Amino acid sequence: MRALGPADLHAHSAVSDGTEPPALLVRSAAEAGLAAVALTDHDSTAGWAEAAHAARENGIALIPGMELSTRRGWASVHLLGYLFDPMNDALRTETERIRLDRLTRAERMVERIGHDYELEWDDVLAQTSPGATIGRPHIADALVARGHVRDRGEAFESILHWRAGYYQPHYAPDPLEGVRLVRAAGGLPVLAHPAVSRERVMPEDEMRELVDAGLFGLEVRHRDNSESGKRILLDYARRFELAVTGSSDYHGTGKPNRLGENSTDADVVERILTEATGSSAILPD
Ligand code: AMP
Ligand code: FE
Ligand code: FE
Ligand code: ZN
Repeated sequence: MRALGPADLHAHSAVSDGTEPPALLVRSAAEAGLAAVALTDHDSTAGWAEAAHAARENGIALIPGMELSTRRGWASVHLLGYLFDPMNDALRTETERIRLDRLTRAERMVERIGHDYELEWDDVLAQTSPGATIGRPHIADALVARGHVRDRGEAFESILHWRAGYYQPHYAPDPLEGVRLVRAAGGLPVLAHPAVSRERVMPEDEMRELVDAGLFGLEVRHRDNSESGKRILLDYARRFELAVTGSSDYHGTGKPNRLGENSTDADVVERILTEATGSSAILPD
């Protein structure tokens, strides 16, 4: 097998809160000079087929994946899953539940915001692709369209911040359950941006529990991880024998993150392709 580098293992399309349809995202990845890209929309695999088709057309490898929403206490924990079986019953039931609750939660938030700002549910729908996993970024886009804020970043710093009082949580399973679900579906679970600067890195005993349940790796090279957090993660990775990944968390024009700004080593990509059993990567001939 040809070495698959450089590889970017975390990117969002309009199937969740990215701004490009899956086919365009894959083409952008090829144009950025990547040899492989993973499509990891929040709580959805709806973009896999379109992305696979585009990967074949553009001569780039595609690793189908997802970013599963999980939560422990108040902390939202994102779990990347690669090459799991998208038809797996337990995982599908769980992601459907999350997507449905994300929808009613967004409606509740818009209801609250609407007391203080001109904003209606239709404004949010106008910013959302049909069937997409709804999140605060879509509300942010609606606030931009209404002229209340300049961009998503400003929306998150102000109206969408939990301190503003409009924030509502949505249902999400515990990360331990997330790791088990992805593994049971034949996929490989990797903790996404586990050292986001404002939060503490997961303590060692909790990390060990995830490792025992089948955690595959840690997304160390990510722009939102703090430098001190990265050092802790690298230490965990060495001691628990976890794979280390790097990625962009590209969201199209929704975030400054650029495709390929971080990448994952070819040997880790190869391990993902050989160890996952739930589905197959699309590889160029
Ligand atoms: P939610 O899961 O609906 O609470 O929204 C969280 C999502 O918003 C994450 O997946 C991020 O991609 C996105 N997000 C968080 N902060 C920002 C920001 N400052 N600018 C743009 N997008 C953001
Ligand atoms: Fe996102
Ligand atoms: Fe995330
Ligand atoms: Zn992400």
